[in-house]
Amino acid sequence: MKKTSKSPEKLIVANWKMNPITESDAIRLTKAIAKAAVRPRARVVIAPPAAHLGAVRSALPKSFVLGAQDGHEKDSGPMTGNISLRTLYAYGVRTVILGHSERRKEGETDTRVNAKVRAALQLGITPVVCIGELVRDSHGKYFGFVEAQLRAALANVKRTDVDRVVIAYEPVWAISSGDGKGQTATAGDAHEMKLFIQKMLVELYGRSVAMRVKILYGGSVNKGNAEELILQGEVDGFLVGGASLKPDEFAAIIKAA
Ligand code: PEP
Repeated sequence: MKKTSKSPEKLIVANWKMNPITESDAIRLTKAIAKAAVRPRARVVIAPPAAHLGAVRSALPKSFVLGAQDGHEKDSGPMTGNISLRTLYAYGVRTVILGHSERRKEGETDTRVNAKVRAALQLGITPVVCIGELVRDSHGKYFGFVEAQLRAALANVKRTDVDRVVIAYEPVWAISSGDGKGQTATAGDAHEMKLFIQKMLVELYGRSVAMRVKILYGGSVNKGNAEELILQGEVDGFLVGGASLKPDEFAAIIKAA
């Protein structure tokens, strides 16, 4: 499997969630994003709903990457309603969001997230692993929550593979569709957690490998806060939900990165 070393290139992942409804709207949105963000100088992944993967793939310029929002770790079998990571790979998907809080809310466990991460790595798909606390307490217990999620997601992931994993720190309280009622994380919040995640990666894998793992921030990123989050948060890019459905806004976020 081809291995890549970390480049300074930023990574922006658009999580369209369950939008838009129709295939024609998905094509329109893809084209509008491609028009608004011509030749992006960041690596931009578009993760549409699975039913629109084919339509988006055909409308997406080569300077963008096709992604998925989830994938089953088993290759095939009696798993009604699921799509395997292997099928996604065959379809051209090379990046997959895993362990999103909206999937965890529906019962996805740390063990499943880990199984999916390992299956994705085996196939050569980049897993974007979402971790993040539900709430922030004043005693800093949320660090323990994030640490447990990270350790579980990376269980049995080898040192030689971990630089192909992307970590997306998404405090659930800051996700625009979450229960956070409009709260946003500051660049300081993002930076503090980036350093914490990096420290854990250093402990687990050693400094040289740990520093190559990209750490994204996600949660109400918009054109107004993107630059500050990148500059002061020092994150390697963003996982973007709501704003990725607005071509001009999303293009501004890419430009900021
Ligand atoms: C998300 O759900 O991954 C996300 C970051 O959403 P939003 O940008 O809408 O907060």
